[in-house]
Amino acid sequence: MPRAVRRVAVAGGGIGGLAAAAFLRRAGLEVSVFEQARAFEEIGAGLVVAPNMGRLLRRLGLHEGLAASGVRLEVGWEFRRWQNGEVLFGQCLDDSAEMYGEDTWVVHRADLLALLRSAVEPTAVHLGARAVGVDQDADGIRLHFADGNTVDADVVIAADGIHSALRGVVTRPEPPRYSGVCAWRSLVPAEAAPDLARRPVQTLWLGPHRHLVHYPVSRGRLINLVAFTPAGDFDVESWESRGRVEDLAAEFEGWDSRLLALVAGAGEVGRWALLDRDPVDTWTAGRLALLGDAAHPMFPFFAQGAGQAIEDAAALAVCLSDPGLPAPDALARYEAVRGGRAARVQVASRGRRGHHHLPDGPEQRDRDAAFAADDPWHTTPGSTPTTPRRRHGSRSGRSRGRATAAGWHTRPPAWTNDALTSTGPGGLA
Ligand SMILES: Cc1cc2nc3c(=O)[nH]c(=O)nc-3n(C[C@H](O)[C@H](O)[C@H](O)COP(=O)(O)OP(=O)(O)OC[C@H]3O[C@@H](n4cnc5c(N)ncnc54)[C@H](O)[C@@H]3O)c2cc1C
Repeated sequence: MPRAVRRVAVAGGGIGGLAAAAFLRRAGLEVSVFEQARAFEEIGAGLVVAPNMGRLLRRLGLHEGLAASGVRLEVGWEFRRWQNGEVLFGQCLDDSAEMYGEDTWVVHRADLLALLRSAVEPTAVHLGARAVGVDQDADGIRLHFADGNTVDADVVIAADGIHSALRGVVTRPEPPRYSGVCAWRSLVPAEAAPDLARRPVQTLWLGPHRHLVHYPVSRGRLINLVAFTPAGDFDVESWESRGRVEDLAAEFEGWDSRLLALVAGAGEVGRWALLDRDPVDTWTAGRLALLGDAAHPMFPFFAQGAGQAIEDAAALAVCLSDPGLPAPDALARYEAVRGGRAARVQVASRGRRGHHHLPDGPEQRDRDAAFAADDPWHTTPGSTPTTPRRRHGSRSGRSRGRATAAGWHTRPPAWTNDALTSTGPGGLA
């Protein structure tokens, strides 16, 4: 049977767009990526590759590259108190690897983008191509660019990020909202970082109205530092925007000296305001579909934005490669499979802001007590951080964990399930 969908044009060559191209190519479709930037530039920041994302990178044959450039985490979600570094909770990732069949990695974004690019034909990627609109009919869809060029395809995927130029075709056009939170990021040379920050651990320091996260990347040569603080009247939203190390240090005055030593090791600091959007019901309009941040931008507090974009990409390829499905039906199926799950992660990510930023007081004490009650290292007398009590079942058991006040991170989070092999409603297996 001839395929209903043969040619796919992807607008946006970020993590989502490149992953879509890689999965679509693997499924035998003709795919072209159109990226507005004139060159792929290095973005100096790190990224957590959770098991749901690592598993899909493995499917693309990129796992060796991930292991070669990234760091395998031994402990994740190690929450510490701002004043003295007291460990409130830590998750042994050997447990989660056993449960999900995949490790958790941390990588430099530039390394991840290079890996994804290696899975796409270089001639399929077109730089300096800014998408501005589409028009479509029963036979196909045409993508228009700012320079007046056009390209014809069976399907267009808008993977053009939170400011998507094409999103307004699918859903009510409205700009994203300023969240009142800004992010600071830096890559600190490992030799300038305290020992604590060089461990293969994702550490989150929680304090009043702000938190700071760090983990090693680039085989441990650099420490990725990202902090979230009130934005005040700062409203610049760009990975290129710069801040000052002394201003970042001032945000954390009075915090544990090890954290301040890490900040002091930062040479250059990026700073930008975080934007927010609500989940939308519709991701598709005929032959056009949204993917990644264009569909579901989320606060980075669950480290899942890229993971969800890559899940979108994998699901999209399954739907579009069904020879019996006309393009609009295939995209409707993609939306049905992905929409609910991505929206849940989006909403949960937003909810973490209040949880992480509680000022000292009764609510913070309740939160920390819940952390302690859930922490395998706190609750196992005599245990050390290398021998946590197993919480998530054994190799044979695979129990689903339990929900507690702090338990969003200890119970298996919903997004670590593999939606692509689910046989339930909307599943694809
Ligand atoms: C501080 C921070 C930390 C994060 N940490 C994590 C983490 O640890 N783990 C994780 O999974 N996620 C994380 N995320 C989220 C993750 O970065 C994003 O969800 C992910 O990059 C989204 O990928 P995307 O391809 O959808 O969008 P983008 O990365 O925004 O890429 C969009 C691409 O489209 C291009 N483009 C834009 N407009 C057009 C146009 N009109 N025409 C053509 N091209 C266009 C852009 O130049 C860009 O290359 C974090 C985010 C932040 C801000």
